Amino acid sequence: MAIERTLAILKPDCVRKNLQGQVIARMQKAGFTILSMKMVRLSPISAGAFYAVHKDRPFYKGLVEFMSSGACMPIALEKENAVEDFRTLIGKTDPAEAAPGTIRKDFAESKGENIVHGSDSPDNGKSEVAFFFSEKELAENR
Ligand code: UDP
Ligand code: MG
Repeated sequence: MAIERTLAILKPDCVRKNLQGQVIARMQKAGFTILSMKMVRLSPISAGAFYAVHKDRPFYKGLVEFMSSGACMPIALEKENAVEDFRTLIGKTDPAEAAPGTIRKDFAESKGENIVHGSDSPDNGKSEVAFFFSEKELAENR
């Protein structure tokens, strides 16, 4: 298995509920290395650009509003098989369908407000990490 990068975002609901520490602890216990992290308030334009792949979906407008409704925390993670393993750690998009012990099952309110983002492929992991972090920011933390 290859070493991969994946992007996590602690979404505005996670920050509002002060769950950042608990969610980050789960990432670390699961063996993810934090390459870089920051706190940002996304503009609607940035949130819309990040989720552009969903622009024609009925939930897009609400998603952009939610993601720009408060601070969030992008986190660049690295690990062997990071993308798949992180998706397993967070659980399915809808917390009602997420497996017991996953982050979304334990903390999320709804399919929209689901605490955390995770990249869905190694290529998207690379490009989503690059959306928030420069290579210099990542490299200097190794
Ligand atoms: N989303 C939503 N309603 C849906 C599907 C998705 O509000 O029916 C939101 C939700 O916040 C989700 C994000 O849009 O995390 C991106 O959707 P995706 O299908 O990529 O889910 P994810 O990869 O986050 O599990
Ligand atoms: Mg997705």
